[in-house]
Amino acid sequence: MFAKRARGLKMSGIRKMFDLAGSSAVNLGLGEPDFQPPSTVVEAMKKALDGGYNKYGPTGGLRELREALAKMHSSQADVRAENVLITVGATEALAMTMQVFVDPGDEVLTPDPGFVLFAPHVRLAGGTPVFYSVLEKDYFLPTLDELESLVGPRTKAIIINSPSNPTGSVMREKEVEALTAFAEDNGLLIISDEVYDRIVYEGQHVSFLGRTENVIYVNSFSKVFSMTGWRLGYLIAGEEFVKTMAKVHYYMVACPPTPAQYAVLTGLLNSQEYLREMLDEFRRRRDFIVSGLNSIGGFHCITPGGAFYAFPSFEFDIGSEELAMRLLEAGVVCSPGSAFGERGEGHLRFSYAASLELIGEALVVVDSVARDLDVEGRAPSP
Ligand code: PMP
Repeated sequence: MFAKRARGLKMSGIRKMFDLAGSSAVNLGLGEPDFQPPSTVVEAMKKALDGGYNKYGPTGGLRELREALAKMHSSQADVRAENVLITVGATEALAMTMQVFVDPGDEVLTPDPGFVLFAPHVRLAGGTPVFYSVLEKDYFLPTLDELESLVGPRTKAIIINSPSNPTGSVMREKEVEALTAFAEDNGLLIISDEVYDRIVYEGQHVSFLGRTENVIYVNSFSKVFSMTGWRLGYLIAGEEFVKTMAKVHYYMVACPPTPAQYAVLTGLLNSQEYLREMLDEFRRRRDFIVSGLNSIGGFHCITPGGAFYAFPSFEFDIGSEELAMRLLEAGVVCSPGSAFGERGEGHLRFSYAASLELIGEALVVVDSVARDLDVEGRAPSP
């Protein structure tokens, strides 16, 4: 009954845990901020609804919003409204990018561990994800030697995600320059997912936008304005790219949601304070969870430079799915590292988009589960 492309899909390992969790569990599983959108943005949304902006809008998004985003990014590149396409979240931007650029048989370099949508999006377009490693020993950054070895005649593009979900790693100028040169030397399209660009704890976010003509820059309002349910994102690319992408986008979604675009337009103008407070809060939680995990025997956690995930490795002699299940039974939801690819095995992902109090409760549970497990060099508790 089902098409091959649908039969081949597996359910995301993140959702699986979430669906199994009881309502009293501390949920550090899902990747969404626990804040509400800025009140000015919520007010603007209500105003848009009451004002009758409940209809289809332009396929590419509201002109005013595209112009505002072009202006916002003008210091990074020569961006005009024609280069901006408003999408149904970064999810649609990424899925549609694959539909537009990937032919059956094409290969796309994909991070492992990496965000759960990347590989399925490549496969849905008929392509093959070719995984490159981002390992703890390399601070979760790619290595050029490995990337070079993976390039073949069918390699079309490379997906890059900084700050990263699930590792929290952040690329600096050095990595961005090197990867841009690598992509240019090999004639690859860069698909750069920068949805966590506002959540960088030290220094400035370094973008791929404006580095080369062959870049599709993807961003979202889900995380910055804590509006994952409003489904709004955008991409920036060359004008000819955008024209073709807008066609596929039209046939997939008709247009992005109209009232949410008016709300976001307001948010772009006056959310500095909100963003500063959000970042400060995430930084407090990051420091708390990372030092907490590192004080638990059997866990090792690199301090993430961005996003809101801790991705510790563990030394217990069980798989990440089993460890996540044990934590779930004890009342904490997290994601097994294997949900993000084979090389995510041996890790767990904790999303610290939860209050310090809840993170504290979760750490107590993690500690007690860890004590019951056999770690080399440490006796299990009686
Ligand atoms: N990219 C990454 C790296 C993400 O973590 C997420 C959300 N978890 C998305 C894209 C999708 O975001 P959106 O809600 O805008 O579809």
